[in-house]
Amino acid sequence: MIRFDYHIHTHLCGHARGTMEEMVRHAISMGFKDIGFADHLPLTYTNDRSLSMEKEELPAYVQEVLRLKEFFSDKITVRLGIEADYYPPHMDEVERMLSEHPFEYVIGSIHYLRDWIFDDPRYVSRFEQIDLNAFYEEYFMNLVRMVETGLFSVVAHPDLIKKFGHRASIDLEPYYREILLAIKEGGLCYEINTSGLRWPAGEMYPEPAFIRLGAELEVPVTLGSDAHCPEDIGRDFDKALNLLLESGYREIVMLDNRSWKKIPILSVSE
Ligand SMILES: [Zn+2]
Ligand SMILES: [Zn+2]
Repeated sequence: MIRFDYHIHTHLCGHARGTMEEMVRHAISMGFKDIGFADHLPLTYTNDRSLSMEKEELPAYVQEVLRLKEFFSDKITVRLGIEADYYPPHMDEVERMLSEHPFEYVIGSIHYLRDWIFDDPRYVSRFEQIDLNAFYEEYFMNLVRMVETGLFSVVAHPDLIKKFGHRASIDLEPYYREILLAIKEGGLCYEINTSGLRWPAGEMYPEPAFIRLGAELEVPVTLGSDAHCPEDIGRDFDKALNLLLESGYREIVMLDNRSWKKIPILSVSE
């Protein structure tokens, strides 16, 4: 059995608990063989200290991950990843920050659209004021552009927009198809992110219809818990693997140096 989790945050982001070393020790105790830290790259569109580390803290994050990688190398593979936001006006700065450190992979996310951090519970009331279908369309179009920048290796929580239970009433299949084909074309993968189960959405990101289409189009998929505390590492991965199997997937991807390698789902779940 190969247990792995590539979406783990750290206390540096201001909304996570547990030291990085505690995270690694917990993962080892749970039988994980391969984990990746993917904390939020310093956000460029807000100064809110409860959402990401400061720019000055980025070198210390990198140093600590590299220290843990070395220190625990006989027990677990610890990878240096990062979660970066796609925000078109600031992509030069994002690219510069990414290029300054030896990140093994970059998780791409959209949390901010129309000057609104739409997944932040503090600002959820704005959902009542928008044309939800148009917002979904805009979100998925931006996700495609994010993939096309070539800066990212994974698409995070592809339908994060449903986090608080706001569902579009239009058929999303054409958007799913477009983003999935862009992911495949660009050599990326997307993640099954189990954190949606812990929010009103009540299901993983992305939704089952997205995953079924992903299986049909043979688009690579990986796993991430979006853990913001040690106990959430690998949370609900048994459900995620079952959902993948039910949806038609037989393989999942893991990192091999900096590229994605397919392995049978049964070698993860057995
Ligand atoms: Zn976070
Ligand atoms: Zn995220």
